[in-house]
Order: sequence, then structure tokens, then C-alpha cells
Amino acid sequence: MKSFNYHSAKDSKEASKLSSSSSAYLAGGMTTIPSMKLGLASYKDIINIKGIKKLSGIKVSGKSVIIGATTKHAEVANSKDIKKAISSLAALAEGIGDPQVRNRGTIGGSIANNDPSADYPSACIALDAIIHTNHRKIEASKFFKGMFETALKKGELIESIEFKIPEKSSYQKHPNPASRYAIVGVYVAKHKKGINVGVTGAKSCVYNDKDLAGTLSNNFSSSALDNVKISTSGMNSDIHASAEYRANMVKAFAKKAVDAC
Ligand SMILES: Cc1cc2nc3c(=O)[nH]c(=O)nc-3n(C[C@H](O)[C@H](O)[C@H](O)COP(=O)(O)OP(=O)(O)OC[C@H]3O[C@@H](n4cnc5c(N)ncnc54)[C@H](O)[C@@H]3O)c2cc1C
Repeated sequence: MKSFNYHSAKDSKEASKLSSSSSAYLAGGMTTIPSMKLGLASYKDIINIKGIKKLSGIKVSGKSVIIGATTKHAEVANSKDIKKAISSLAALAEGIGDPQVRNRGTIGGSIANNDPSADYPSACIALDAIIHTNHRKIEASKFFKGMFETALKKGELIESIEFKIPEKSSYQKHPNPASRYAIVGVYVAKHKKGINVGVTGAKSCVYNDKDLAGTLSNNFSSSALDNVKISTSGMNSDIHASAEYRANMVKAFAKKAVDAC
């Protein structure tokens, strides 16, 4: 690992001031540290944001759940308030990695990283999330831009993520047996104003499957999806699953999620 300068920021303003073209924020460190150790990434400055009180915590209001960026997966999984408001979100967090990862990894780090197989991005899409940064609010549909790419500008800090509470929702995935990352994961959410189907693991970036959502808008039942054909175009194909297999999994998990709703 190359040497770097270590900083600990006391608030968002200081964190953003310390950031540069070669810096990373240290939240859970679950991606940044292994990447640095393996020589896949190097930074001049590492800025610890875990001491910024404002970035952590869970608030539930009538219509939304707001989760601070440095809130750990285990805190989301165990939150009674989240279980009551959006139980599928707590279940998603419970299915991430292993206890060590869940007790260090953070929601902000997960969505900033935008791994194509990460779980939280599908929740952001399905639950019409708004990403609050130190500069602006970004709708989830405009946040996830491509593989490991988001709308965040250099040094822009996620402060919290606001999820809309749906009428019904469920997240179903086929986890990689080693890491628990989603080989395919499908998050179905039924809102008063429409349905979203957030899909992760299938393509290079999370997406809202508009065909599945449209079909479910007319008839919210798993049998309504029987005749939907999922195209293999743009689907990932690797040692874990072929494009055809992933396309089948998208449909199978969408049906399972609707049944679980
Ligand atoms: C063994 C293992 C198994 C895993 N399994 C899963 C799984 O099953 N499902 C899953 O979804 N994920 C999984 N993960 C990923 C993990 O859950 C973390 O969410 C992820 O590694 C990043 O979160 P972090 O808090 O550790 O971020 P860090 O590693 O600290 O940071 C990652 C990146 O995000 C940026 N960043 C961090 N916080 C912010 C912020 N507030 N604002 C702006 N940028 C920020 C940093 O600059 C850095 O570029 C796994 C990881 C490991 C190591």
C-alpha cells in the first residue's frame, strides 16, 4: 500500500475542504481499504468522516425514512423504526455480506461506490430515494450513472438518503455464496403513484425495469409477469451466470418479490 495523508474531519465543511483530486472519504473502509491494499487504488489523502455526528442516524417521518450516510448496515438491519416503516429495507441490509461487513460498511459508502452488484442502489431506485449531499438533492433515477459511476462531483459528500415509504415492497436476490453481493437482486415497490422495479447485478449499473413495472401497474400479481420476456441485451455474463440465466433470474425474482409483497 502506498503512503497517504490521514485526516479526520469534524464536519461536512471541513471534509469537503480537505478533499482533492486524489482523495477518498473513509466511511466503513470496506471497499477503500481492500482496494488500496491490493494496489487497485491509491490516494494522497484519506479523509475519515466517521466522526461527523450529523452524518449518522435514522429518522422516520410519516412519508419517508431518512438514513444518515455513515449509518452502518447492521444499524439499518436492526432498526425497529425501519422494520416497521419499510421492512424490506431492513431485510436488504441484513442480507449484505457478513457480520463484519455489516458492522463497518455504511449506506453512503455503498451508494457512492455504486458497485453493479450492490444491494442498496436497487432500494434507492425502487423507493424513489433522494440523495442529500452537502450541495444539493439528487433523485436516485439521476444518481446512478454507470459501473462504479455516480452523479457525485469530486469531493461532494453524501449526507443522507431519504426513502419514500411504499404501500408494499420486497427485495429478493440470489447472493454470491462467497460475498453475498447480488448475482441478481430485484426490489419491487408499490407506491400510491406507481410501481418501481429496481434491478441490481444483472447489468453494468442498477436500473428500473420499466417493462416489469408497467405490467405490474395494470395487474399487481406474479402471474401477470408469466408472459413477459426479459431481453438479454446488456446483461452481464461471467463465471457466476450467463446473460440468459440472469435474464431468467430477473423475472423469477420479480415474481418472488411480488408474491412476498
Ligand atoms: C467481503 C465483503 C462482502 C460484501 N458484500 C456485500 C453485499 O452482499 N452487498 C452489498 O451491497 N455490498 C457488499 N459489500 C460492500 C460493503 O457493504 C460496503 O457498503 C461497501 O464496501 C462501501 O461502503 P463503506 O462504508 O465501507 O465505504 P468506504 O470503503 O469507506 O468508501 C467507498 C467509496 O465511497 C466513498 N464514500 C464513502 N462515504 C461517502 C459519502 N458519505 N459521500 C461521498 N462519498 C463517500 C469513498 O470516497 C470511497 O470512494 C461487501 C464488502 C466486502 C468487503
